[in-house]
Amino acid sequence: MIAQESGQLKKKESPAASNQLAGQLFDSLPIAIYTCDKQGFITSFNQVAVKLWGRTPEIGKDLWCGSWKIFQLNGEPLNLDSCPMARTLKEGVAVEGEEIIIQRPDGARLNVLPYPVPTFNDAGELIGAVNTLIDVTEQRNSEGKQAMLATIIESSEDAIVSKTLNGIITTWNNSAERMFGYSEQEVIGKHITLIIPNNRRKEEEEIIEKIRQGKKVEHYETYRLTKAGTEIPLSLTISPILNTKGQVIGASKIARDITRQKIAEENLQRYANNLETLNIVGKMISERLAVHDILQQVTDVTTQVTGAAFGAFFYNKFDEHGESYMLYTLSGAPREAFEKFGMPRNTAVFSPTFNGEGTVRVDDITKDPRYGKNSPYFGMPKGHLPVVSYLAVPVISKAGPVIGGLFYGHPEAGKFTSHHEVIIESVATQAAIALENAKLYEEIKKLNDKKDEFIGLASHELKTPVTSLSGYLQIINRRLAVDDVNKSFIEKALAQINKLSDLISDLLDVSKIETGQLPFSFTGFDLLQLLHEATEIMQYSTKTHRLVLTSELDKIMVTADKQRIEQVIINLLSNAVKYSPGADLVNISVSMAENKAVVAVQDFGLGISKEQQERIFTRFYRVEDMANHISGLGIGLFISKEIISRHKGRLWIESGKGKGSTFFFEIPVEQDLT
Ligand code: ADP
Repeated sequence: MIAQESGQLKKKESPAASNQLAGQLFDSLPIAIYTCDKQGFITSFNQVAVKLWGRTPEIGKDLWCGSWKIFQLNGEPLNLDSCPMARTLKEGVAVEGEEIIIQRPDGARLNVLPYPVPTFNDAGELIGAVNTLIDVTEQRNSEGKQAMLATIIESSEDAIVSKTLNGIITTWNNSAERMFGYSEQEVIGKHITLIIPNNRRKEEEEIIEKIRQGKKVEHYETYRLTKAGTEIPLSLTISPILNTKGQVIGASKIARDITRQKIAEENLQRYANNLETLNIVGKMISERLAVHDILQQVTDVTTQVTGAAFGAFFYNKFDEHGESYMLYTLSGAPREAFEKFGMPRNTAVFSPTFNGEGTVRVDDITKDPRYGKNSPYFGMPKGHLPVVSYLAVPVISKAGPVIGGLFYGHPEAGKFTSHHEVIIESVATQAAIALENAKLYEEIKKLNDKKDEFIGLASHELKTPVTSLSGYLQIINRRLAVDDVNKSFIEKALAQINKLSDLISDLLDVSKIETGQLPFSFTGFDLLQLLHEATEIMQYSTKTHRLVLTSELDKIMVTADKQRIEQVIINLLSNAVKYSPGADLVNISVSMAENKAVVAVQDFGLGISKEQQERIFTRFYRVEDMANHISGLGIGLFISKEIISRHKGRLWIESGKGKGSTFFFEIPVEQDLT
């Protein structure tokens, strides 16, 4: 449809048919077009122009151009009277496609190419101009995007490569060049297998298959080959490239070099492994009490953790002449390899470790200025372990003295790191503590052995005079007249001598248990009968308690050491009486459970708290508050436990503080005596 303004054109010019035709043509054109008179007033325009400007100019009012605002390409504003149309009218010449930016009233900006052409009358006088405006915004945008994309691709840290579905490389960015070592010219048109290691060719087929199906492959970790032939770890993201019809025509590949990430991962893994090893070492050495064991563990594990070819621990020991001497554990090398050579503490390089000055780490010992200054070898003696990398960490006790040093060596340079230093130093601290504990333990053990030796000796020495004393008293007793007043004193003396003899026997038993020499002699007997006899004997010597024995059986035949089992029963009964001063009853029962005879001795006395129940079976242990007023040596239950366990049985207690106690023991009725 022709605009109303075209009518004006008709009004001003002649209404000839050709003009009408021109008007229709004007409106049907797909590009924006408008005219001005020679003063610059807009005289006509078509709808495409109105759409472009985003407004309708007023005829007779708008000058030069229907745009709301115009700008130069650099963004600076341009006065309407300096626009290309104004210049054409002022200068009477056409201005060819000088791109401008127009702004619509809604703020939108468009890139426009104006082509103003002057019009003349027959007399050749300028009467106006006609201007066509071409909207190039989209083109410019896509050009901008392309340029931006190209810049991104070129400046990307990642290698970006595209290839056809047949694997022919079509683009190759700067980073690809840097990563793989091939220039763009070298690879364009070549097959992608150029950078794929032989053993990974199959991988490429699988990737291409996915791409053909339009699928994306993301963060695929693999290895690719550089021009120099080295394999580098990469993370690949591969996407299909589609044509305008949506068909897959190739693939774009973004490759990220993950060498550093891999190294970091490996380091982390190694670190975690080391920590775990250290944890295990710490636990192991703190559980051990034998010095050599601890040192061997420490040497072995730290040699492994540092990756050393060999490691050793040297003691900081001196002989009576003040000369240090060799005493050590080692790992990774035969003992002879160390034995041939002098003590390391005597050399300038090694001595700081023994002086406690701290860790010594040398990347290349042969380049150390102190190296080679010591007689007799002046450097590495012939046949010495080939040490180039060297690490030495002192093991220092809490009190200050240097216990010794941990040494590590490797035939290659730069093998030990600060990380190793930290680890070994922490092991050295743990080792120092463990060694001190071990030393203390050894000292305590020595004292304990001395004590055991004394108990054995003393009880043995006491036994002989007590036995003869008892014999003489018995003879005197027999020879005295029945009514002699002294007889009762003699009997009292005999009873005390018997008590003393029992105590000495118990002490002897303890010492025999310690040396594994407590003798046993198994016979068959009736346990019920034995319980009757023992209860009777005990009842005879106690006036305060009633001892009540119950059994549902008439006879319980067992194979056991009768005397030793009696010893256990008497111990339990006398304890039951002794530790229930306020009570008057002790129950004894015996029963059978699955080929085992179970004896229970129940009292209603002081009872024992849970915490102390385990400890009463250990040597010389007595519950504190009882020990003060009830006499005893704290060995009866220890001996009883040993006797029962030698019968493959069990001795245990059920009790609570103030609730009385029941002691149980069970023994198998049959003993395997083979
Ligand atoms: P002793 O009786 O000579 O001290 P034992 O080895 O027989 O030695 O007992 C160890 C400790 O166990 C006793 O000192 C006592 O504290 C506790 N004990 C033993 N039997 C009983 C019991 N029946 N009731 C309470 N405490 C007991």
